[in-house]
Amino acid sequence: MGPSPGYGEMNRMKNSYDVIVIGAGSVGVPTAMALAEKNVKTLVIDKNASPGQGENKHALGGVRANHSIPGKILISLRSLEIFSTWEQKTGENIDWLKGGYLFLAYRREEEDILKNLLPIQKKFGLNIDYLSPDEISEILPGIRKEELLGGTFSPDDGSASPLLAINSFYSKARAGGVEFHFGEQVKTVTTGEGKVTGVISDKNSYLSPIVIDAAGPYSRQLCSRLGADIPVFPELHEGGISEPVENFFGCLVVDLRPGPGSKNYYFYQNKPGQVMFSIAPDPPLIGTEKGATSSFLTQVCARMVTAVPRLKNIRIRRTWRGIYPMSPDGAPLIGWDREIEGLLHATGMCGQGFLLGPGTGELLARMVIGETKENDPIILKDFSPYREFESHEALR
Ligand SMILES: Cc1cc2nc3c(=O)[nH]c(=O)nc-3n(C[C@H](O)[C@H](O)[C@H](O)COP(=O)(O)OP(=O)(O)OC[C@H]3O[C@@H](n4cnc5c(N)ncnc54)[C@H](O)[C@@H]3O)c2cc1C
Repeated sequence: MGPSPGYGEMNRMKNSYDVIVIGAGSVGVPTAMALAEKNVKTLVIDKNASPGQGENKHALGGVRANHSIPGKILISLRSLEIFSTWEQKTGENIDWLKGGYLFLAYRREEEDILKNLLPIQKKFGLNIDYLSPDEISEILPGIRKEELLGGTFSPDDGSASPLLAINSFYSKARAGGVEFHFGEQVKTVTTGEGKVTGVISDKNSYLSPIVIDAAGPYSRQLCSRLGADIPVFPELHEGGISEPVENFFGCLVVDLRPGPGSKNYYFYQNKPGQVMFSIAPDPPLIGTEKGATSSFLTQVCARMVTAVPRLKNIRIRRTWRGIYPMSPDGAPLIGWDREIEGLLHATGMCGQGFLLGPGTGELLARMVIGETKENDPIILKDFSPYREFESHEALR
């Protein structure tokens, strides 16, 4: 349900805005930047002390349009365009590296999944092909070829630094007139006659006909106070980073096979030369306790070193644990609330909120001002908070 009539009128009053964004994270900050570009008077509120201190800083920085759902491919292609041209356009380094994404197949099961996705991925504009083990070893030198059947490679995907990127987006949003209030927690979204009227925080109250829920793992909690059930669950994942070494591979590698206590794992070498890695626990761990575990390193390193033995020489610097804001089917929840006019959900980004952020921000800005681009209906259908959640993202 879109904004109420009279949009733009309330912003003449003190403490009143065209749009309030809850959350200065992977989604909230690029959204603020996109709103500023459309001259929308915007306030962003975050309980943390600076941008990206929620889950954005826990992301490894992988940026891909290599997905199985059309909406995700389309929105990510736009994000890729933004990340890959950012330095050229703004002069600001975000450690963008176009190294591609390599999904490996060691079993017929994964080979079939990857091959069957190619037609839909190509149809929606992804540059991708299936490679033989020999072709893969040219992209990933030192990979063991035993049991390797092949894999898909999407060369235009890449990586960037989540903290460099969000700070650069933040500066641009501020330069465009967006106000940011940090160290302030939104207690509730206020409504009247079924419409959003603003928010109340622990420090102040504000007026706005539109509130964007970009609260990530905390969206469900926030929206439940309004009677809206937004199915986002906090799923714990760990990440790690090595010392920097000379760059010897550029792609982000995903092995979809399950292992003991885990599903897929992935790793890549970032622009400064550090190897970054993560693994998906099986069964998934639901919760918000962010203490890193002692089992993570042994679990993920054993799998990485088996695949690429030369990785054993690299020393690990640090590990951490963060939260994926998970939806039931692995795709985001983006759309107007159907009960509360003016409440716009942009959450449930799962393990891809950093890469989805810039494309999502522009989509939300268009929704706020009532513009539509050709592919928006496809994206909004796939991401509807009210979909049936019957299918699943095959490349989570
Ligand atoms: C180990 C790991 C690796 C990952 N790797 C990648 C990757 O390679 N690529 C990728 O794209 N993604 C990756 N992700 C996922 C990514 O980090 C998340 O999907 C993304 O950060 C979610 O973005 P968000 O804006 O929804 O949430 P956040 O970035 O967490 O932002 C939400 C913000 O809302 C604020 N907030 C919440 N409630 C309130 C309130 N009531 N009042 C005020 N403020 C509030 C929070 O403080 C937070 O700053 C990874 C995650 C983990 C844990």
